[in-house]
Amino acid sequence: MSLTLFVSDVHLHPERPAIQDIFSRFLLDTAPSADALYILGDLFEYWLGDDDVDSPYSGTLALLHKASRSTPTYFIAGNRDFLVGERFQQESGCRLLPEYETIDLYGRNTLITHGDALCTDDRDYQRFREMVRRSEWNDKVMQMPLVQRKAYFHSLREESQGFNAVKPAEIMDVSQQEVERIMSEAHVDLLIHGHTHRPAIHHFQANGIEKTRIVLGDWYKHGSVLYYFDNGNYKLTEL
Ligand code: MN
Repeated sequence: MSLTLFVSDVHLHPERPAIQDIFSRFLLDTAPSADALYILGDLFEYWLGDDDVDSPYSGTLALLHKASRSTPTYFIAGNRDFLVGERFQQESGCRLLPEYETIDLYGRNTLITHGDALCTDDRDYQRFREMVRRSEWNDKVMQMPLVQRKAYFHSLREESQGFNAVKPAEIMDVSQQEVERIMSEAHVDLLIHGHTHRPAIHHFQANGIEKTRIVLGDWYKHGSVLYYFDNGNYKLTEL
């Protein structure tokens, strides 16, 4: 049976070698038999820019490249790795997709995205997102020497963790209104995303139509993979 794989929020980090191992095994054993592999953002804990040639991820990039030779591999940037660029594409073999992409999943129109743009109730976060997506911010950051850029990213992360600790949990989840708006705009009944680290399969009705939203889990403690089969069945499982 043919199948397509989806993962997100692997958050690769040198301090979590066990996850690196699980992801490597997934790339070597599972990915090659799939029709396609979609990585929906936050593959890295942070990606400082393509000029970071000492990045600790070169082993993973090589495995991705190997997998991409037998299985087309696609990547949507997340909020931790939106600085991926040309070198990342070349080294990983992944094809970069825009923030929202509609794909034909065995005849079913499906919208895929990282998911942070759906969290419209989190105003602080949306302001931050707007800032980092401006080209002036990008230019400023990319001009920093790597050491300084690393320190800056670290401070941004600490700041956001400080904010998030005092925020009600539902604020940091997706907005159902935004989910319904974006799905109807894209004419899909299936949405797949990550980012919130709340793996689940949600069924709901909108405009009288049965719709499904699949949320991929993070890889902090174990892997999380969506297997979507060509007969329309699917399963969201832990590795
Ligand atoms: Mn994210």
